[in-house]
Amino acid sequence: MAFHDTSMIDPFGRAISYLRVSVTDRCDFRCTYCMAEDMAFLPKRDLLSLEELDRLCTVFIEKGVRKLRLTGGEPLVRKNIMHLVRELSRHLKSGALEELTLTTNGSQLSRFAQELADCGVKRINVSLDTLDADKFHAITRWGNLSKVMEGIDAAQAAGLKIKLNAVALKGFNDAELPEMLRWAHGRGMDLTVIETMPLGEIDVDRTDQYLPLSLLRADLERQFTLTDIPYKTGGPARYVEVAETGGRLGFITPMTHNFCESCNRVRLTCTGTLYMCLGQEDAADLRAPLRASEGNELLSGAIDEAIGRKPKGHDFIIDRRTKRPAVSRHMSVTGG
Ligand code: SAM
Ligand code: SF4
Repeated sequence: MAFHDTSMIDPFGRAISYLRVSVTDRCDFRCTYCMAEDMAFLPKRDLLSLEELDRLCTVFIEKGVRKLRLTGGEPLVRKNIMHLVRELSRHLKSGALEELTLTTNGSQLSRFAQELADCGVKRINVSLDTLDADKFHAITRWGNLSKVMEGIDAAQAAGLKIKLNAVALKGFNDAELPEMLRWAHGRGMDLTVIETMPLGEIDVDRTDQYLPLSLLRADLERQFTLTDIPYKTGGPARYVEVAETGGRLGFITPMTHNFCESCNRVRLTCTGTLYMCLGQEDAADLRAPLRASEGNELLSGAIDEAIGRKPKGHDFIIDRRTKRPAVSRHMSVTGG
């Protein structure tokens, strides 16, 4: 396969090498910071088929994408999702793709962990905001902690490396995060904490939940020795090493520290819409050029045109005066 490593350079000189694909906007949870309980999902007929998603991803890989993350919604609830994973794994075998991974809520992992590992997936992100079963049910509305724990066990048994993602929520899990950190590191998992972002209308007030990670870090530093390290996984997290546990803790701080300068990512939705920035409304439709011809020239041109419009960055604000979300679409549409 021919590589065109320089073909996806945005106007700010950033090489786009990381594609996140939201394979469905649906989910078996309703996390309060992510979704309203009563969500309207896309009609099935609007979704790209798995074959179309594969074709789109393949064009991105030919144009220089080296890392591909499946997300959602919950990627593992998309029907036949393992068919797509298996197809995409050919790019791992050929060496065109360095990493194929996914972000999951873990609910279906016990079913799919071994198959993911067999397809060449090496590490996955599992979102987990609390280790308390009642709180877990409260935050996810529909989730069952023991299913997720079974999933984590199965993934580790299959040899998958796990990074836990926890959204830091004031008054909900902030006091529990030291315990989660010890637990995660004790099981050989990294932990990353994320600030809540103002994406989509939800049923709760985000100002009540928002916890700047600078405060959390100061709090953790009363119990732990945190040393900044240059470790990178290709995503926006900045890592510290925790002396007491020997593990890594990541901070994703879209609100308190703008991570846009080094952004190497674009996001594709399950309808073939490409978002060049998580925090901006601008998007490019790739479904029309995908369906307009069997060859990929139109599609490739549309991708180039979209990358040429990638904005410099976003400015999220969460305060009492800004009641509307910065971006109207939910995280589950664009994919976290
Ligand atoms: N369903 C999968 C999961 O939960 O891992 C993948 C999609 S989910 C949208 C991806 C990540 O986004 C999760 O870690 C979730 O906690 C995070 N997330 C969702 N809404 C968010 C928000 N408003 N602010 C910050 N993170 C959010
Ligand atoms: Fe579903 Fe993930 Fe959103 Fe929770 S964060 S509602 S698991 S998409």
